[in-house]
Amino acid sequence: MTIITMLEITTLGGGQEIGRSSFLVDTGVEKFLIDYGLNSQNFTAPIEPPANLDAVLLSHAHLDHCGMIPALYNNGYINKVFATKTTLQLSELLLRDSIKIQGRKGLQPQYFSNDIQKMMQNSEAVELGEKLEFSKTSVQMLDAGHIPGSSSILLESGKTKLLYTGDIKYIETALMNPAYKDYKNIDAMMIESTYSYQNHTDRDQLVQKLKDKIKETVGKDGIVLLPSFAIGRTQEMLLLLSDIGVPIYMDGMGIDATRIILNNPDSVKDPEKLKKAFGKAHKVEDIKDRKNVLNENCVVIASAGMLQGGPMHYYLRKLYKKENCLMIFNGFQPEGTTGRAVLEKHRIIDGNSEVEVRMGIEFMDFSAHIGKDNLYRFIEQVNPKKVIPVHGGFVPEFVAELKRRGFDAVGPKNGDVVKI
Ligand SMILES: [Zn+2]
Repeated sequence: MTIITMLEITTLGGGQEIGRSSFLVDTGVEKFLIDYGLNSQNFTAPIEPPANLDAVLLSHAHLDHCGMIPALYNNGYINKVFATKTTLQLSELLLRDSIKIQGRKGLQPQYFSNDIQKMMQNSEAVELGEKLEFSKTSVQMLDAGHIPGSSSILLESGKTKLLYTGDIKYIETALMNPAYKDYKNIDAMMIESTYSYQNHTDRDQLVQKLKDKIKETVGKDGIVLLPSFAIGRTQEMLLLLSDIGVPIYMDGMGIDATRIILNNPDSVKDPEKLKKAFGKAHKVEDIKDRKNVLNENCVVIASAGMLQGGPMHYYLRKLYKKENCLMIFNGFQPEGTTGRAVLEKHRIIDGNSEVEVRMGIEFMDFSAHIGKDNLYRFIEQVNPKKVIPVHGGFVPEFVAELKRRGFDAVGPKNGDVVKI
């Protein structure tokens, strides 16, 4: 009998785009679904996978990677979802919130609460580095450094080795260790290319600027608003700011996310430091407490990071006219979000009218994604036989540059099949 060593990868979502990542890997014996995300801006789903999946492998808890998994259970999927315990618990938090957001937007729900329950009941927690054995293929999840719980996924099927990086952070941050990088003999590397066109600002300089701006604002009797993603960014801000002598208030989903992360101490670099910073921060657990927050000069860390809902709206509405106050965006604001409108046009909707935001507005690039130079560095380090960039807006340009540098590269669109 000849052993089939060929793998077929079908891009279902996240091909030459960011949002709704999903890839079907057919080994000839098994069918794996890697991630099944939902575009959290426009709520579009990936192409539907076949019904006879053997397993779902989930890289991390962001909705553009896990957001459609409950829909599989709604459609009768009965097998397991494999991910780290942190990823599973954080995914549940975001998925339950996603149902609420879809409801508020008046969208036809993609799934219901009991589908999330079914997903959780069928989930299996995987340790980083642990080897899962399927009939032909072994699967390992390794630290991706992106957010707590995040992993890259390594499949070894017959003689073929496929690495799916998921979203990765190459460098160390205040919150996370850097991504695992010691990969050998990789046949194909599916790599995120979110920032294939740009480097990030030096992190140390950025941290200094953040602290300086906060001190300057508080010195003017002002308040600093930090709209922050619940997972990752909220905890990083807590770590960076707990010792600057300014009161920190937390509001929204970041509080629950921090508790989940602290229950999984291995998911971050320094859990003791995070525990201390979280203990010191004031938590707004009751909506009634919200009005007391703005009585002192302080920093408010609250969701949503892109101002798409969440308690940050309350604080913005209270402070937007105050020139001595400052809002600092600490993550990318995609086109069409409220955050982008505030950042670019300094305008928000208050009641029925559009008004000018007079408080200061800053953007600081605290990205959790690998930047341009490190992308090339990482690819050269791993030296795979084939590079398959996904999760990016400039994939054709990136593929052309990889080819110029001597790599075999292909950037699939949604629906394309790549054989390795
Ligand atoms: Zn992500």
